[in-house]
Amino acid sequence: MTQVIQSLAEWQELRRTLSKDLGFVPTMGNLHPGHLSLLQRARQENAVTLLSIFVNPTQFNNANDYVHYPRTLEADITLAREAKVDYVLAPASQALYPDDYAYQVSEIEFSEQLEGTCRPGHFTGMLTIVLKLLLLARAQRLYLGEKDFQQAALIRGLTQAFFINTEVVICPTLRNEFGLPYSSRNARLTPEQYEQARLFPALFHADLSCEEIKKQLVEKGFAVDYVEEYDGRRFAAVKLGDVRLIDNIVVVPIGVQTS
Ligand code: AMP
Repeated sequence: MTQVIQSLAEWQELRRTLSKDLGFVPTMGNLHPGHLSLLQRARQENAVTLLSIFVNPTQFNNANDYVHYPRTLEADITLAREAKVDYVLAPASQALYPDDYAYQVSEIEFSEQLEGTCRPGHFTGMLTIVLKLLLLARAQRLYLGEKDFQQAALIRGLTQAFFINTEVVICPTLRNEFGLPYSSRNARLTPEQYEQARLFPALFHADLSCEEIKKQLVEKGFAVDYVEEYDGRRFAAVKLGDVRLIDNIVVVPIGVQTS
């Protein structure tokens, strides 16, 4: 039976009674197969699973993106029930920011790269909410998607920096039929943009230089924030209209490729 909880006090009270391993999947809702794969993994590896649904205002550097972010709580709860999640925590914004965001957690190295160059304040908002959620959940394991690799790496660093006793498990990116990572923002693409989005994975995975990929994406009508290799991975962020798509893959060095 899935229990939906909105009050943080109620969750904290309940958490005290849980003695078995807890697997935690934090999301902003509008659940898709990528989220469901994290929930499935959490269920496999823990006696109890917690899903949080919270559209975190402080990590949106673009007010329009925050306003239009898809909010589908009822449908998400149905999916959570089908996935046999034990607890869904869906608190109100004010509850998570009793300090009005006066207290913030920042990282000053990796967060300045890639997404950090395009989204000022994003990682500080993200790390701040994740710290709050980690302290509320007190989970044995936290499940994150490789799709947001920089986010996952920063969260792992956060747990190490603050001695948080939660293991960070990074799970593979789930992709749709043409290789585009599932994302809540995909729902905002028009049918024409969705067709055009096919070209993004096709080019991103091609055996071409970042410069060449960028050039071809621009030619095909994408606004490109970056296509860059960093520490053995290729990362990209592009926009179709005001919908932003990101992806990353491990880059296999030439000569190491197997058949
Ligand atoms: P979000 O709701 O977009 O904040 O994502 C919540 C979690 O789901 C994050 O850890 C994401 O990295 C993960 N996630 C989002 N999309 C995917 C995907 N396509 N495959 C795997 N994990 C994903």
